[in-house]
Amino acid sequence: MYKIEQKAAQTETDIQRLNDVKYPLVEDFYTIQGEGAHTGRPAYFIRTAGCDVNCWWCDVKESWDEEKHPDTRTGDIVQRAVNSGAEFAVITGGEPLLHNLEALSVRLKQEGLDVHIETSGSSPLSGQLDWVTLSPKRFKKPLDENFPYVDELKVVVLKNKDIQWAEENAKKCPSTTRLLLQPEWETPSSIKLIVDYVKQNPEWGISLQTHKFIDVP
Ligand code: SF4
Repeated sequence: MYKIEQKAAQTETDIQRLNDVKYPLVEDFYTIQGEGAHTGRPAYFIRTAGCDVNCWWCDVKESWDEEKHPDTRTGDIVQRAVNSGAEFAVITGGEPLLHNLEALSVRLKQEGLDVHIETSGSSPLSGQLDWVTLSPKRFKKPLDENFPYVDELKVVVLKNKDIQWAEENAKKCPSTTRLLLQPEWETPSSIKLIVDYVKQNPEWGISLQTHKFIDVP
């Protein structure tokens, strides 16, 4: 959880100012959270554009270039999230922390939605975040200053050295952080690796991309 200081009461002018802040948006949609500790819960996904991490196995490469996606008003995104009936929004990317998330997260919370984020942690946290999922990437490491706020550490595993990478990151997280290893979808050999490791190290659990099994976005 991460919270900037925020005045309790907002004037209409404040709300309008926040609503007018724009983010490059790849897509936003109501779906089911398929991964991690909140798997199976309906959630409104907000995918911002822009990523400077460049994982070779990334399955949303179309999100990398901000210029290819429309700048979209916070007010419009939040209205669609509210209309969906979702209890929480998931801000993802791309790398969402390339943007200051104050406006988007504050407005979502003012409208009664919890705010979750999925990030590589390679840029500073911003906004009001009820649940921080850190998915650290070796290509651009997380900032040390972000670790105290990590609710869930979710590491994609292809091979053994990814498990070492997961342990390196886990050492920096609070003791309350949920620790999850997730097989890379196109690398089935990672499943046995993870199952064997979790049985030996029960502080870790397994996260699966369940949305891919049930064919939801
Ligand atoms: S950090 Fe995420 S969006 Fe960026 S390249 Fe890696 S997997 Fe793709």
